[in-house]
Amino acid sequence: MYPYNIVEDQAEELFMEANIRDIGIIAMKPLAGGALEDAELAISYILNNKNISTVIPGMDKIEQVKQNILAADLNFNDEMIKKCMEIKKKYSDSFCRRCGYCMPCPQGIDIPFSFILKGYYDRYDLKEWATERYTAMKRHASDCIECGLCESKCPYNLKIRDMLKGVVESFGF
Ligand code: SF4
Ligand code: SF4
Repeated sequence: MYPYNIVEDQAEELFMEANIRDIGIIAMKPLAGGALEDAELAISYILNNKNISTVIPGMDKIEQVKQNILAADLNFNDEMIKKCMEIKKKYSDSFCRRCGYCMPCPQGIDIPFSFILKGYYDRYDLKEWATERYTAMKRHASDCIECGLCESKCPYNLKIRDMLKGVVESFGF
Protein backbone atom coordinates (compact mmCIF):
# COMPACT_ATOMS: atom_id res chain seq x y z
CA MET A 1 0.00 0.00 0.00
CA TYR A 2 1.61 3.22 -1.17
CA PRO A 3 0.58 6.84 -1.87
CA TYR A 4 -0.10 7.29 -5.56
CA ASN A 5 -2.04 9.91 -7.48
CA ILE A 6 -1.73 12.33 -10.40
CA VAL A 7 0.70 14.50 -8.44
CA GLU A 8 2.54 11.89 -6.38
CA ASP A 9 4.01 9.53 -8.96
CA GLN A 10 7.50 9.12 -7.51
CA ALA A 11 7.11 5.36 -6.95
CA GLU A 12 6.43 4.31 -10.57
CA GLU A 13 9.66 2.31 -10.68
CA LEU A 14 8.76 0.50 -7.47
CA PHE A 15 5.33 -0.41 -8.88
CA MET A 16 6.95 -1.77 -12.02
CA GLU A 17 9.27 -3.95 -9.96
CA ALA A 18 6.36 -5.17 -7.82
CA ASN A 19 4.46 -6.15 -10.95
CA ILE A 20 7.44 -8.15 -12.24
CA ARG A 21 7.52 -9.99 -8.90
CA ASP A 22 3.74 -10.52 -8.97
CA ILE A 23 3.20 -8.37 -5.87
CA GLY A 24 -0.05 -6.41 -5.70
CA ILE A 25 -0.07 -2.65 -5.13
CA ILE A 26 -2.87 -0.80 -3.34
CA ALA A 27 -2.86 2.91 -4.20
CA MET A 28 -3.63 5.09 -1.19
CA LYS A 29 -4.24 8.86 -1.11
CA PRO A 30 -5.69 8.88 -4.65
CA LEU A 31 -6.94 12.45 -4.24
CA ALA A 32 -3.62 13.73 -2.86
CA GLY A 33 -5.11 14.55 0.52
CA GLY A 34 -8.04 16.39 -1.05
CA ALA A 35 -5.91 18.56 -3.36
CA LEU A 36 -7.43 16.88 -6.42
CA GLU A 37 -11.08 17.74 -6.88
CA ASP A 38 -11.96 15.57 -9.87
CA ALA A 39 -12.31 12.16 -8.19
CA GLU A 40 -13.33 10.40 -11.42
CA LEU A 41 -10.24 11.59 -13.22
CA ALA A 42 -7.98 10.81 -10.26
CA ILE A 43 -9.25 7.24 -9.85
CA SER A 44 -9.27 6.56 -13.56
CA TYR A 45 -5.65 7.76 -13.81
CA ILE A 46 -4.58 5.29 -11.12
CA LEU A 47 -6.49 2.29 -12.44
CA ASN A 48 -5.11 2.95 -15.91
CA ASN A 49 -1.68 2.01 -14.57
CA LYS A 50 -1.27 -1.73 -15.20
CA ASN A 51 1.10 -2.01 -12.23
CA ILE A 52 -1.62 -0.98 -9.76
CA SER A 53 -3.97 -3.64 -8.36
CA THR A 54 -6.55 -1.43 -6.70
CA VAL A 55 -7.23 1.96 -5.16
CA ILE A 56 -8.72 2.96 -1.81
CA PRO A 57 -10.35 6.41 -1.90
CA GLY A 58 -11.96 7.61 1.33
CA MET A 59 -15.76 7.71 1.05
CA ASP A 60 -18.35 8.97 3.49
CA LYS A 61 -21.38 9.35 1.22
CA ILE A 62 -23.28 6.84 -0.93
CA GLU A 63 -22.95 9.25 -3.85
CA GLN A 64 -19.16 9.05 -3.60
CA VAL A 65 -19.30 5.25 -3.68
CA LYS A 66 -21.39 5.37 -6.86
CA GLN A 67 -19.15 7.99 -8.46
CA ASN A 68 -16.01 6.00 -7.68
CA ILE A 69 -17.47 2.78 -9.09
CA LEU A 70 -18.30 4.61 -12.32
CA ALA A 71 -14.76 5.97 -12.46
CA ALA A 72 -13.40 2.42 -12.45
CA ASP A 73 -15.18 1.76 -15.76
CA LEU A 74 -14.11 4.93 -17.56
CA ASN A 75 -11.93 4.77 -20.64
CA PHE A 76 -8.83 6.79 -19.92
CA ASN A 77 -8.77 8.92 -23.07
CA ASP A 78 -6.50 11.60 -24.54
CA GLU A 79 -8.57 14.41 -23.04
CA MET A 80 -8.11 12.91 -19.58
CA ILE A 81 -4.37 12.48 -20.13
CA LYS A 82 -4.17 16.16 -21.08
CA LYS A 83 -6.04 17.17 -17.93
CA CYS A 84 -3.70 15.05 -15.80
CA MET A 85 -0.66 16.70 -17.38
CA GLU A 86 -2.10 20.14 -16.58
CA ILE A 87 -2.68 19.10 -12.95
CA LYS A 88 0.85 17.71 -12.65
CA LYS A 89 2.23 21.00 -13.94
CA LYS A 90 0.06 23.06 -11.63
CA TYR A 91 1.18 21.22 -8.49
CA SER A 92 4.76 20.34 -9.46
CA ASP A 93 6.36 23.07 -7.35
CA SER A 94 3.73 23.51 -4.68
CA PHE A 95 2.67 20.05 -3.46
CA CYS A 96 4.46 18.59 -0.44
CA ARG A 97 4.96 14.80 -0.72
CA ARG A 98 5.63 14.51 3.02
CA CYS A 99 9.01 12.82 2.50
CA GLY A 100 10.70 14.87 5.24
CA TYR A 101 13.99 15.33 3.39
CA CYS A 102 13.84 19.07 4.07
CA MET A 103 14.17 18.41 7.81
CA PRO A 104 15.52 19.31 10.28
CA CYS A 105 14.81 23.02 10.15
CA PRO A 106 17.23 25.04 12.32
CA GLN A 107 14.22 26.92 13.67
CA GLY A 108 12.53 23.66 14.71
CA ILE A 109 9.59 24.00 12.33
CA ASP A 110 7.94 20.73 11.33
CA ILE A 111 7.64 21.70 7.67
CA PRO A 112 5.64 18.76 6.22
CA PHE A 113 3.24 18.66 9.16
CA SER A 114 2.59 22.39 8.76
CA PHE A 115 1.57 21.74 5.14
CA ILE A 116 -0.59 18.77 6.12
CA LEU A 117 -2.46 20.90 8.65
CA LYS A 118 -2.89 23.71 6.13
CA GLY A 119 -4.43 21.13 3.77
CA TYR A 120 -6.90 20.08 6.46
CA TYR A 121 -7.66 23.73 7.23
CA ASP A 122 -8.21 24.80 3.61
CA ARG A 123 -9.69 21.73 1.96
CA TYR A 124 -11.64 19.87 4.60
CA ASP A 125 -14.26 21.12 6.95
CA LEU A 126 -11.80 20.71 9.85
CA LYS A 127 -10.64 24.25 10.61
CA GLU A 128 -10.99 23.90 14.37
CA TRP A 129 -9.29 20.50 14.44
CA ALA A 130 -6.38 21.74 12.31
CA THR A 131 -6.00 25.00 14.29
CA GLU A 132 -5.85 23.10 17.57
CA ARG A 133 -3.03 20.88 16.31
CA TYR A 134 -1.18 23.71 14.63
CA THR A 135 -1.35 25.80 17.81
CA ALA A 136 0.07 22.88 19.81
CA MET A 137 3.18 22.73 17.61
CA LYS A 138 6.32 24.04 19.34
CA ARG A 139 7.34 26.23 16.39
CA HIS A 140 5.22 27.73 13.64
CA ALA A 141 5.57 28.87 10.05
CA SER A 142 5.95 32.45 11.30
CA ASP A 143 9.23 31.39 13.01
CA CYS A 144 10.83 30.87 9.57
CA ILE A 145 13.89 33.08 9.13
CA GLU A 146 14.01 32.28 5.39
CA CYS A 147 17.50 30.75 5.55
CA GLY A 148 16.61 28.53 2.56
CA LEU A 149 18.27 25.38 3.97
CA CYS A 150 15.08 23.34 3.58
CA GLU A 151 14.69 24.30 -0.08
CA SER A 152 18.21 23.11 -0.87
CA LYS A 153 17.22 19.65 0.43
CA CYS A 154 13.74 19.27 -1.06
CA PRO A 155 13.95 16.78 -3.98
CA TYR A 156 10.88 18.40 -5.57
CA ASN A 157 12.32 21.92 -5.50
CA LEU A 158 9.31 23.23 -3.64
CA LYS A 159 9.22 26.90 -2.77
CA ILE A 160 8.97 26.07 0.91
CA ARG A 161 9.48 29.62 2.14
CA ASP A 162 6.58 30.89 0.03
CA MET A 163 4.46 27.91 0.99
CA LEU A 164 5.09 28.61 4.68
CA LYS A 165 3.83 32.14 4.12
CA GLY A 166 0.65 30.48 2.90
CA VAL A 167 0.49 28.54 6.17
CA VAL A 168 0.76 31.83 8.08
CA GLU A 169 -2.06 33.25 5.94
CA SER A 170 -4.33 30.34 6.88
CA PHE A 171 -3.60 30.13 10.60
CA GLY A 172 -2.55 33.72 11.29
CA PHE A 173 0.91 32.86 12.72
S1 SF4 B 1 13.82 28.56 5.31
FE1 SF4 B 1 12.56 28.60 7.14
S2 SF4 B 1 11.62 26.57 7.22
FE2 SF4 B 1 13.33 26.45 5.79
S3 SF4 B 1 15.03 25.69 7.07
FE3 SF4 B 1 15.15 27.94 7.03
S4 SF4 B 1 13.99 28.58 8.85
FE4 SF4 B 1 13.46 26.46 8.46
S1 SF4 C 1 11.36 17.75 1.21
FE1 SF4 C 1 9.83 18.88 0.02
S2 SF4 C 1 8.28 17.36 -0.48
FE2 SF4 C 1 9.56 16.48 1.12
S3 SF4 C 1 8.49 16.98 3.04
FE3 SF4 C 1 9.94 18.61 2.67
S4 SF4 C 1 8.78 20.17 1.54
FE4 SF4 C 1 7.63 18.28 1.42
